[in-house]
Amino acid sequence: MLKLVTDDGNPRSALSVEDLPLGPWAGTMLRVWATKTGTRWHADPDCPSLKSRARSDEFAQRSSGTLGDRILPEGLHCDPPGTLTDYLNAARHLVYYANETDEAERKRARGDLPISALGRHLGAFGNMDELLAEEPLASISGPEHNRRSRLAEDVNRYLSADSERACVMVLADWVRRGRTPRGHQRHYDRFVEAAVTVFNAAGLTSNIGMHYAVNRDALPEWLESVAGGSTCESATQAVADQEFAHAQRGRRADESDIPKLVRETWLSAGARWQLMLESMALAHPGTVLALFKRHGSGLDTDLLDVLARTGPWATLKIAHLDWTVAELPTACRLSFASNDDGSGGVILLEEPGYQVTHETCELFLRNLAHSLGYPDLTQHVRRGTAALDRTPRTKATDREYELSLAVQRRGFSSYPGGAGISADTCRPALLAALEGDQLARPSAGRKRRSRT
Ligand SMILES: [Zn+2]
Repeated sequence: MLKLVTDDGNPRSALSVEDLPLGPWAGTMLRVWATKTGTRWHADPDCPSLKSRARSDEFAQRSSGTLGDRILPEGLHCDPPGTLTDYLNAARHLVYYANETDEAERKRARGDLPISALGRHLGAFGNMDELLAEEPLASISGPEHNRRSRLAEDVNRYLSADSERACVMVLADWVRRGRTPRGHQRHYDRFVEAAVTVFNAAGLTSNIGMHYAVNRDALPEWLESVAGGSTCESATQAVADQEFAHAQRGRRADESDIPKLVRETWLSAGARWQLMLESMALAHPGTVLALFKRHGSGLDTDLLDVLARTGPWATLKIAHLDWTVAELPTACRLSFASNDDGSGGVILLEEPGYQVTHETCELFLRNLAHSLGYPDLTQHVRRGTAALDRTPRTKATDREYELSLAVQRRGFSSYPGGAGISADTCRPALLAALEGDQLARPSAGRKRRSRT
């Protein structure tokens, strides 16, 4: 039987491939091959593990039912090529997606924000998008897409209302990146030091050295889970439980109190880290309007996607180019500046407030493409929506590849006057957008600021 999405909040059992309809398998004849003495059957005649097609057999499939009703030989090695496998892959993808939503909903119920799941799209490669949009999978993929969208909207609403949480997440990501040598490594080191101090005070040492012990797993994992949407409290609890289990495995008979003390001390260390992050957040209040590249901004991509959707935003996406303009927590400034590969983004406006809407963001990107001399790119500007986007990526022409590469090479710059795109470069496009004006295609004589 098909276990479909329940909207009444009842827990449902995990969807499996066996639950999905037979689709193109219905009524087909499955042909399989084996070597003369082989015990494994292969449905792909070109399978590299199939040395010869000495024996073959056929299995007539039922005319209706689910993939669980397929009639297959014992120990089937591989899937039949073509339509049947394409359908199976789409079914597997859909099941993975549904189960991932289940897990994300459980996280959300605990107070965590399931960031990584919200960035994922239903449908991925090849003809999967079409298969998922057609029956018999459409009636399952549609509700699954909606379920994920509802979760995304819930997180949006929550993050828009609690901007401190968003700021803490950005800062956790930024501090974590300081683990590898770069400008702000000393900030990461302070977190290590804070935990070491707590352990020294408790009289606990480690044979590998406390600095090493903190830096190896606990701190990076803690920062990663906070940046990934866990509350500081649950991230701390996870570290403490893990270290407790570890201490219990390694304890000697005469040290029965040690694991408990280890757990208590990690709880204190986590509380100290939380206080540090929250204090930092106080120093970076509010939001900014920023232009950034989605990959290589200096901030986690999943986190960026979620944050961008909480306010007005728009994208310019084609070939190598993946730009977003969005309202982000002010702390993103630190992430952009700490990026390895030039500036990760440009701060366009402090405290954008009511004057910036989705339309402003869209207009700004169109104006920017014009003012940079790439009017052809304006057609790839998309206005943001709170819901998850399901439109497939546009296929780029050769010329668009060239253009996008040229823009991408130029990069961003935090200083005016250089080759990179800076806040100064963006200003004419921004001012026009704020007034609702559209910059016209630049002509030979007037390259900028010509208005319609
Ligand atoms: Zn095979």
